[in-house]
Amino acid sequence: MGKVSRQKEFYPLFLFLSLPILFFYSGCVTPPKEEVRKSQDIWERDLEGAGFPLVEEIRLYPARWYGNRKAACSITFDDGTLDQFILGAPEMDRQGLRGTFFVITGFMEKKIWKDGNTERELFNWDQARDLAWRGHEIASHTARHLDLSANPGKVQTEIEEALRDLKREIPWKKSFSLGWPYWRSSAEAEGIASRFHFAARAGGISARPGSSSLGGVNGKSPVNFMGIGSHGILPSDSRETLLPILQEVYTNGGWLIPNFHGLNDGKIPAKALGWQALPLESFSLILETLKGYDLWFAPFGDVAKYARQRDSITLETERVGYLWRADYKSNLDSVIYDHPLTLNLEIPAAIALLMVMEDTTGRILPFTLKERGERNLYLLDLPSGDGTLWISLCRARE
Ligand SMILES: [Zn+2]
Repeated sequence: MGKVSRQKEFYPLFLFLSLPILFFYSGCVTPPKEEVRKSQDIWERDLEGAGFPLVEEIRLYPARWYGNRKAACSITFDDGTLDQFILGAPEMDRQGLRGTFFVITGFMEKKIWKDGNTERELFNWDQARDLAWRGHEIASHTARHLDLSANPGKVQTEIEEALRDLKREIPWKKSFSLGWPYWRSSAEAEGIASRFHFAARAGGISARPGSSSLGGVNGKSPVNFMGIGSHGILPSDSRETLLPILQEVYTNGGWLIPNFHGLNDGKIPAKALGWQALPLESFSLILETLKGYDLWFAPFGDVAKYARQRDSITLETERVGYLWRADYKSNLDSVIYDHPLTLNLEIPAAIALLMVMEDTTGRILPFTLKERGERNLYLLDLPSGDGTLWISLCRARE
């Protein structure tokens, strides 16, 4: 508790500032050092009727997932084969979902990747940029798709070349996530990757409920951000095979990461198909099934950032007169970790939230009343970085 809130007596102090629409006020004997600015109309609304409620207790904490969803889900694609652009992305768009495409950057100009003895057609940079423009994530699947667990000497160049390509082709993106080729890495490779990437996705096809990293049944926070588990989808997979994994993730409030490769509608040229192509109809049904749950659907990189930001934020609240003040801080680089964080605010049932202002910029944060009950639950959308919030409360309307 700060110095200000230890004052025993309270009386309102209102001071008109030279700027006509800005006020600061405090309910304490000693005015706080911070100037609390409020627009005049909000201030006048505060004063109407019975005046301010003195709220003795609030709870403010980060939501497990953005939007206070119960669990998270990232739809991911590997290799950047043309079927993903022709069939996968339009189906995702149709269902209102944004996914992640891990691309092999060294082969995109020529649009052909020799996957062992199979030549696969890839989408090109214009198409990749178009996906990014539409809100999907384009991420690194390295420059040449080598098994980096078996080629320790190639890890750094494979990662650096791919990043250079991605930055050149999608210049507005400040950071990129990584998907390990063949889902394979080593502790050494992960150490190198962590210097260039904020998160890397591993995976496997042996997913069962209870298999954490390889199965893609991640909990609230991945155990290893450089080897986040995903569930590799095979042509034999369907919504029925995915349901037990989904239900485990959902019960635990975790993060489900299905990993698709090829998609086939029966009409697309064979050359455009990715590895182990899944019928498009199964893909569509899997997405529809997932959408039946209270999941936060977001690209892999966004969810990884959110989890790190959520786990690193510190929040300190104290009452300052009729207002509540919350200082928030994170030790993360806000240029990379730039996802907004959902904060849950619980206040007594008789109280309503009037306004939340971020002090440094004067931004007023968006909020919504999520649940009414013994306590009202509000959700706020907090921008990344450090700062101070001022929370104004009023009496709830009947
Ligand atoms: Zn791959």
